[in-house]
Amino acid sequence: MLNKETSYLELKKKVVSEYAHASPGHWGEFVNGVDEEILTQRKYIAFTFDGCGGKNGNGFDKELIDFLHNEKVPATLFVSGKWIDANFTSFLNLSRDTLFEIENHGLNHKVCSIDGESAYGIQGTKDVEEAFDEIEANALKIKAITGYNPCYYRSATTFIDEACARMAGELGITVVSFEVLSGDAVPFTSASVIEENVLRNTKPGAIIIMHFNHPEWNTYEAMHKIVPELRHLGYVFVRLNAFKLISAPRKRGAVAQNGKGRG
Ligand SMILES: [Zn+2]
Repeated sequence: MLNKETSYLELKKKVVSEYAHASPGHWGEFVNGVDEEILTQRKYIAFTFDGCGGKNGNGFDKELIDFLHNEKVPATLFVSGKWIDANFTSFLNLSRDTLFEIENHGLNHKVCSIDGESAYGIQGTKDVEEAFDEIEANALKIKAITGYNPCYYRSATTFIDEACARMAGELGITVVSFEVLSGDAVPFTSASVIEENVLRNTKPGAIIIMHFNHPEWNTYEAMHKIVPELRHLGYVFVRLNAFKLISAPRKRGAVAQNGKGRG
């Protein structure tokens, strides 16, 4: 087990002692330390798809992935350790496909908290130790399997506290939320509602959140319409790791300071 190695345990001990008396700070999807947009004024947007894992999240939407592949749509895939274990061969294939960037969705798909908060019925990590494992052990797992060092982390449900976001930052990992909520995870959402959510809210720099672990959801059906429509509007699809990200409050600050945004 990677997370039993001395270097891992030493780093964990250091982080745990640093955060022993930390306050969790705010709790939510867009707290301090979380980014949600690409820093650009060009028509670049990023599709991100989560592979959550666990009892109701271990599926693989092959039709969706094949569509992205055939249409040459780059995408960032956030995968949990549980999803990797349940889909090992598919995961290896995805990691070898240069169209896709693999990023970190937590070791056990827990919401990330230093004091056991929960969101949408998903229990959070109970303390600093477990939060550290959730982020760092899955980053190591992805690196060990693929050779790629993931630089982004998205908490399960995207809920996280500010202490965990700061901890991730110190580990060299940027926490990513989203700007456009496709709504594909809401039970029984039709393809047309997902299309509308995405097409109505997309603007330059948008990070769009969707899922690739539920073939029974309408994500693939919606993408059939979304991809040509956004291309027609001049949007270019990108992976996150080619860009700097920014949060909405920092972006507003930069715009106010410069009179215009950067990049
Ligand atoms: Zn998830």
